[in-house]
Amino acid sequence: MLSSRTSRPILRGVSRGLSLASKRGGARQMSTFLDEYDAIVEERAAMGGGFGVPPPPLDASQTSRVIEELKESPNKRLEDLLVHRVPPGVDDAAYVKATWLSALATGKESNESISRAMATELLGTMQGGYNVATLVELLKDPDASIAGLAADQLCHTLLVFDGFYDVEALAKEGNAHAHKVLESWAAAEWYLKKPEVAKEMTATVFKVTGETNTDDLSPAQDAWSRPDIPLHALAMLKNTRDGISPEVDGEIGPLSQLKELKEKGHPLAYVGDVVGTGSSRKSATNSVLWHMGDDIPYVPNMRGGGLCLGGKIAPIFYNTMEDSGALPIELKVDDMNMGDVITVHPHDGVVTAEDGSVITDFKLKTNVILDEVRAGGRIPLIIGRGITSKARVALGRDEAVDDVFNMPEPPSGPKPKGYTLAQKMVGRAIGLKEGEGVVPEQYCEPKMTTVGSQDTTGPMTRDELKSLACLGFSADLVMQSFCHTAAYPKPVDVVTHHTLPDFIMNRGGVSLRPGDGIIHSWLNRMLIPDTVGTGGDSHTRFPIGISFPAGSGLVAFGAATGTMPLDMPESVLVRFKGEMQPGITLRDLVQAIPYTAEKMGLLTTEKKGKKNIFSGRILEIEGDVVNNLKCEQAFELSDASAERSAAGCTIKLDKEPIIEYLNSNIVMLKWMISEGYGDARTLERRIARMEDWLANPVLMEADEQAEYTEIIEIDLNELKEPVLALPNDPDASALLSDVAGTKVDEVFIGSCMTNIGHFRAAGKLLADAAKPIPTRLWVAPPTKMDEAQLTEEGYYSTFGVAGARTEMPGCSLCMGNQARVAPGCTTVSTSTRNFPNRLGQGANVFLSSAELAAISSIEGELPSVETYMKYMEQIDPTDENIYRYLNFDELPDFVKSADAVEISEEMKKAAKELDLA
Ligand code: SF4
Repeated sequence: MLSSRTSRPILRGVSRGLSLASKRGGARQMSTFLDEYDAIVEERAAMGGGFGVPPPPLDASQTSRVIEELKESPNKRLEDLLVHRVPPGVDDAAYVKATWLSALATGKESNESISRAMATELLGTMQGGYNVATLVELLKDPDASIAGLAADQLCHTLLVFDGFYDVEALAKEGNAHAHKVLESWAAAEWYLKKPEVAKEMTATVFKVTGETNTDDLSPAQDAWSRPDIPLHALAMLKNTRDGISPEVDGEIGPLSQLKELKEKGHPLAYVGDVVGTGSSRKSATNSVLWHMGDDIPYVPNMRGGGLCLGGKIAPIFYNTMEDSGALPIELKVDDMNMGDVITVHPHDGVVTAEDGSVITDFKLKTNVILDEVRAGGRIPLIIGRGITSKARVALGRDEAVDDVFNMPEPPSGPKPKGYTLAQKMVGRAIGLKEGEGVVPEQYCEPKMTTVGSQDTTGPMTRDELKSLACLGFSADLVMQSFCHTAAYPKPVDVVTHHTLPDFIMNRGGVSLRPGDGIIHSWLNRMLIPDTVGTGGDSHTRFPIGISFPAGSGLVAFGAATGTMPLDMPESVLVRFKGEMQPGITLRDLVQAIPYTAEKMGLLTTEKKGKKNIFSGRILEIEGDVVNNLKCEQAFELSDASAERSAAGCTIKLDKEPIIEYLNSNIVMLKWMISEGYGDARTLERRIARMEDWLANPVLMEADEQAEYTEIIEIDLNELKEPVLALPNDPDASALLSDVAGTKVDEVFIGSCMTNIGHFRAAGKLLADAAKPIPTRLWVAPPTKMDEAQLTEEGYYSTFGVAGARTEMPGCSLCMGNQARVAPGCTTVSTSTRNFPNRLGQGANVFLSSAELAAISSIEGELPSVETYMKYMEQIDPTDENIYRYLNFDELPDFVKSADAVEISEEMKKAAKELDLA
């Protein structure tokens, strides 16, 4: 495999050329582009308090200018920029670069400094996408040295997609170079030529005590800079905390501290008690690896590799680390302190101190992880293993590849007596017989029927899709939202709003528009029961079916290939029994889960040695009170499984609410088509699949003898007062009576945890109170359809009279990157999570139901249980005028638009084929 450190003479010359030119200083060759580029270099060098960041990768127009100047005269610095500063894959700049290199490699153009051979080699550094067709074509080149060079490049190229079949066809026609490529793929040379994982990895400890959530690593307020990895990494750990000294508190992370530690001469290892809880942020991984990983040859501004050691590593963070080629290890970290030099022995499972004594031992999570590190990440390993297997078949051999790779071990133990709902859903998604399930720990690659992407991770998902050379989605429905940035966009967000929709729709995805509202409130309306999906937002938690949210790398993989790697997690069952008591809301049931788990000793809030029965497992919820929930209500329960760090969530619902939901959703999707949303064919196909399900509405059910790691029973007869999450930890729960009387400054009613019923309930309480409220009240409905309906019903007038600040539908305060509560204030919020500094700097945030939040806004404090109950007497939980959901099939304007939309026979047929597949 070609790398910047290989001894290939042609490319080595480029780097040498740059260093000589740099050393000559003033002797730089003339270039208008370089004059402008140097200004960018200088500007970026001054960032981060002078620590500096490299310039951004070249865009398409800069790449064109570099090429135009290179056509005029040789210039080693420009050559170097072309070689090293253009992103690979299917980026627009990569297209420009690959087009010119293709012209040079095929001899259609010539250039004084880039020969045909060098152009061919440079195409081989572009990983896949626009370079593949030319390299395959060159296998037929009459000049055998060029054809051989092209073959060498393809041997280590994994992102060839359909190009594989072109190589196979050429080999069958007798092309020796193509045959050589197939043999190389079959022998897994792309992998075996990479160095094995070192026996000893010496590193300096960068210790972060307590819990590091992904917001600490990639703060929401800096979400705008996430695609610019080095710039965004400046904000990592920017808030002062135990042992961490930011450069500028609240702005720039501990750069001096990092620099000092690096001066010990070893790479840094991120070491924490609990690492990576919270949102599924690839950007958090990117920031850690920017400071602690290794450069990736020919990939600008991105790093891989690195060590992450945690007492507990949150599952999604673990996966994003795995995907990036890092080595995450769960082990005891108590005896590793900031600045210690340690040696990790990955093959032996021990960590030693400088004097050779053993600090701790560990067991790697899987037998495959060292293969992943060697391959440069889990995704390259999966793709590469697939190519090796396919090449073996093409050569008439067995497809098995276990002679080279460690294959995931099949789960041990006897076949279970029954399967859980999640196990059956995943079983169907990998094509098992109906009723069969996937057992915990079994490695599988389930079909991704629905994939969601939101706007603060969307640009990174786009970058990942480009680097996967994806020009069309294989997942049936991929949806992009703009809920996190629409209300108060920065210039960079506006660019995303303008460019991302086409990127998604051109690949067959569905794009929402800024102002439409929260990703989940839309995506949930596109789901097919009992199917599996994923999303680049940790709250992608389906109320029907199951989702395994992931970082943007894995989401891109799921969207591009239509499958996702999964080590099937164990399940924890939460069963609600008894009756809902007066004044108790669904939100109280949500918080009753950690409240009960803590009482059972299954969950602790202390970070050191934290216990969390839900972490990395699937939370499966059932109970008489749950069965009949509307899908909108069920989402409140599944959404909050993110706060439990669960890998996924299922809710056992009766089919009636699902039939009602799908009938409504079909009208909404048809209305979307009539409103010009795209991709229309994808929406049509999804409607057809919903209609097919409705024609035979059968739901999966867990077997009676299904096995769970734990069963938590919550008796609703005993839950007689609201349960809140305490500042600032969504797991820390208390009854209202424990915190009544706490003065409240601000209240937020919004986020994906809310639906239209909550706003009506809050509106009614505010209207009935008929007094000016002493708090600052924020109201943000989840979608523009909720906003329109609430306006029509007069609730916006009530909010106005109460002095509430109504915000654009979307994430609003929940994300913390738009409007924020006042620093240090006490807030009651209906949002999902209350991590420190998320809603406002130093704010103390309680999480509660919309009803309790509204009452707190009126009272200016958390009320006593008695006062709360008095207010709640005004709210009848069965009142259809309050808790009525948006049934689009009952809204005349939507029905009228939907009636005009026809679903094509082609998409009906495609839907049937997908259902049968
Ligand atoms: S409302 Fe909050 S939790 Fe929900 S998607 Fe938006 S930021 Fe995420």
